[in-house]
This record gives sequence, structure tokens and C-alpha cells, in this order.
Amino acid sequence: MILEIADEQQMEQFGAAFATLIKPPALLFLQGDLGMGKTTFSRGFIRELGHRGNVKSPTYTLVEPYKLAGSRVYHFDLYRLCDSEELEFMGIRDYLEDSILLVEWPDRGVDILPDPDFSISLEESGDGRRALCEGDQKLLDAVREQFKRMVER
Ligand code: ADP
Ligand code: MG
Repeated sequence: MILEIADEQQMEQFGAAFATLIKPPALLFLQGDLGMGKTTFSRGFIRELGHRGNVKSPTYTLVEPYKLAGSRVYHFDLYRLCDSEELEFMGIRDYLEDSILLVEWPDRGVDILPDPDFSISLEESGDGRRALCEGDQKLLDAVREQFKRMVER
């Protein structure tokens, strides 16, 4: 599935649309260069599940945990990961059992992370972004419909 996402607000809505539909356990890869909107997507996702505070980029901490109504969400940013073994030490496999994992820069953890349930690649498209999504087609179709509804509101 390919979606055009016009601006920052729509990127948050795109994340929110995913959040309303995806159920744990789930592993989501967020790919794309610096500044393509991976953290913006994650903010929309995490806020939709009821988080009221900041969603800060886990660039330095590697992971920020959120305990939300109904599900735990772990937001990873592996940009600064030196050695993918570090992920093993962090116990990432345990997180996978019953949580939702959003992972920026998943390539950095390639030999440790299992295949994702969904992969979202963000790239520039005019002034906005284009999202290429892979994963269960039925859920992605539902995400597209939900996204449209949110944008039209
Ligand atoms: P990343 O985590 O991929 O490095 P961020 O989400 O931190 O990127 O930052 C993305 C930047 O691009 C922010 O300045 C944000 O306002 C902007 N942005 C996010 N989504 C879009 C979009 N769909 N179109 C245009 N600008 C966007
Ligand atoms: Mg980021």
C-alpha cells in the first residue's frame, strides 16, 4: 500500500490510524532517512492510545516505554546502536511477547530482530511524504480508510 501524507499533522493522523487498528503483539519497522517523519508517526500512534505527555525521540536512550490502556508500547530508535547484540542484552525478545514495538532504524538490529508484522518506509514526495507499507493487506486497507476519515474530520 502506498499513501501520500501531506504534512506533519497528517503524519500524526497516519500513526493514529495504525494505533486504532493494530493489536499486540506486533512489530512495526519505521524506515526512511533522518527527518522523514518516523518519530512524528510514533507520536501520533502513542498519543492515540492515550498518552498525554511528550513523545520524545529515543535516539539516546534507544527505547522509551509507554504503559497505555490496553497495551504496552515500546518505541525504539536504533540509530546509535553500535552492536546489535546490545538488543539481545536489553531483552528485546521478551518485549515482543505481548507488546507493540515501533522501531526506527531497524536495519541496525538486523540479525537480532525477527521479521516485522508491518514495515513502513517513508520518503520525500514534493513538500510531503510518501509511505510504502507492507504487511497484512486487510489491516492496511483498514488503516487507509481510517486515515482518510481522520484527515477529513
Ligand atoms: P525522523 O524520526 O524520521 O528522523 P521526525 O519525525 O523527527 O523524523 O521529523 C520529521 C520532520 O518532518 C519534522 O520536522 C516534521 O514536522 C516533518 N514532517 C513529518 N511528516 C511530514 C509530512 N508528511 N510532510 C512534510 N513534513 C513532515
Ligand atoms: Mg526519529
